Amino acid sequence: MMAAFASGKGFQSDPDVYTRPANCPPDVEQLGSATWTFLHTTAAYYPERPTPLQRANMLNLLHSLPVLYPCSHCASHLGQDMKHNPPDVSGRIGLSRWLCERHNEVNEKLGKDSFDCAKTDERWKDGPSDGSCD
Ligand SMILES: Cc1cc2nc3c(=O)[nH]c(=O)nc-3n(C[C@H](O)[C@H](O)[C@H](O)COP(=O)(O)OP(=O)(O)OC[C@H]3O[C@@H](n4cnc5c(N)ncnc54)[C@H](O)[C@@H]3O)c2cc1C
Repeated sequence: MMAAFASGKGFQSDPDVYTRPANCPPDVEQLGSATWTFLHTTAAYYPERPTPLQRANMLNLLHSLPVLYPCSHCASHLGQDMKHNPPDVSGRIGLSRWLCERHNEVNEKLGKDSFDCAKTDERWKDGPSDGSCD
């Protein structure tokens, strides 16, 4: 149920206490990880020189997040951030960096390490140079 999801009910982070079955609806962390995967991967494969229509569609996708993302406090924080940092849809490098910076804003808010934005292609498109993901 969306209200319970948004309020975080049912979430247990300590696996010793309770492990949620795999077929449960996603909690905030699972939804977040899946959404970042989608967004970073989409940015990694966004064209170097997008058409006006591709730019418009990407802007629509990004601007829909603060309205539709089903975690209300996450959506609200992203909306505030995007007011000060409008999306860069000029090409895949700019978009990947913009998204990395938005993700780092959330990482900082949650007390997590910052991600090195020079490594977005390695993480989301090319894999490490040692070939371990080939
Ligand atoms: C738009 C949005 C807003 C969110 N807001 C909140 C919030 O306000 N409160 C809250 O509790 N949770 C929020 N979340 C969820 C939160 O960001 C994490 O997804 C969740 O805590 C799970 O974290 P994780 O450790 O699995 O890694 P995630 O943060 O989900 O990251 C997944 C993977 O992305 C890579 N990565 C990490 N940082 C970056 C980066 N900057 N650029 C590129 N790749 C990176 C790493 O390899 C990492 O393993 C939000 C999620 C989204 C999509």
